Amino acid sequence: KASSAEPSPSPGNGVENLVIIGSGPAGYTAAVYAARANLKPVVFEGYQVGGVPGGQLMTTTEVENFPGFPDGITGPDLMDRMRRQAERWGAELFQEDVEFVDVKSSPFTVKSSERKVNCHSIILATGATAKRLSLPREDEFWSRGISACAICDGASPLFKGQVLAVVGGGDTATEEALYLTKYARHVHLLVRRDQLRASKAMQDRVFNNPNVTVHFNTETVDVVSNTKGQMSGILTRKTDTGEESVLEAKGLFYGIGHSPNSQLLEGQVELDSAGYVLIQDGTAKTSVEGVFAAGDVQDHEWRQAVTAAGSGCIAALSVERYLVSND
Ligand code: FAD
Repeated sequence: KASSAEPSPSPGNGVENLVIIGSGPAGYTAAVYAARANLKPVVFEGYQVGGVPGGQLMTTTEVENFPGFPDGITGPDLMDRMRRQAERWGAELFQEDVEFVDVKSSPFTVKSSERKVNCHSIILATGATAKRLSLPREDEFWSRGISACAICDGASPLFKGQVLAVVGGGDTATEEALYLTKYARHVHLLVRRDQLRASKAMQDRVFNNPNVTVHFNTETVDVVSNTKGQMSGILTRKTDTGEESVLEAKGLFYGIGHSPNSQLLEGQVELDSAGYVLIQDGTAKTSVEGVFAAGDVQDHEWRQAVTAAGSGCIAALSVERYLVSND
């Protein structure tokens, strides 16, 4: 974590072209493109996830769907490669969280506890955080039975052909459950309330799928393991009777939503009701000229490393155009 030393002057001692906030696939891809365009981007990487930069993929093991790695690659290795690529082309990286942003006056101001940087443009790439249940054994089984992404992990050998469970009652959970039926032997949907919140269409698809069993009034209490230490089931409790039982399952998927990391941006750029940065369709432009957004902080639908990287590229190319047109 950064110390609380006196703020040092911005690297160029003047106004920087571009500040990128965030170090996931969106932030680093934007950094590679901007650095190669000679914009000398300043990147605030943040350290929120486990005290290291790199974003959500630092919390996973194998990434099997990022193009270019036919045998898969671990999340931390992939992020380290992106980081080194950005550095190689001259991006200036600071492992600090941004604590304050002012985009109401020009040039914009970005501040961490260590430094204040003035800049002509900003790319917001602060990502999102998958909501967790905080089960007692959650950390022990994270990526070893518990996952927050069916598309990412559903086809992995750990889950293929197994009985799996999804927790949640909204569109995310029902989508995850239906997606998992492609690979799983059977999928249980664990719903705390007595009804689903998902759209009628999604509800129909779930109820009509013989490979999904919906358990209403069912709270997920913890995961249980076998004598080999592998996940073997889920301890559940009925919310109406308090009765506890163990449901046999080799995997538990969280479908309880994501929180965009956008608290910093409140009152600065327009956010939607769930806190995602609003962008103009098909672009990376936010409600403020010169401020762009990429990755999961503006995407509540696709949420993949490759889509985050793609949007980081669009944001950096948009900045390049913006700076030229404002020269
Ligand atoms: P993130 O990866 O969320 O990174 C955001 C970064 O911004 C973080 O480093 C954070 O510390 C930083 N930040 C936040 N606030 C600040 C601040 N104030 N100042 C500075 N920095 C800040 N996708 C796939 O395609 N394949 C997979 O196999 C896959 N597996 C996954 C497994 C898990 C367990 C999870 C949680 C997600 C997985 N995903 C996978 C989804 C993928 O990780 C995300 O879609 C992707 O990381 C989003 O990238 P991003 O750059 O938008 O943000």
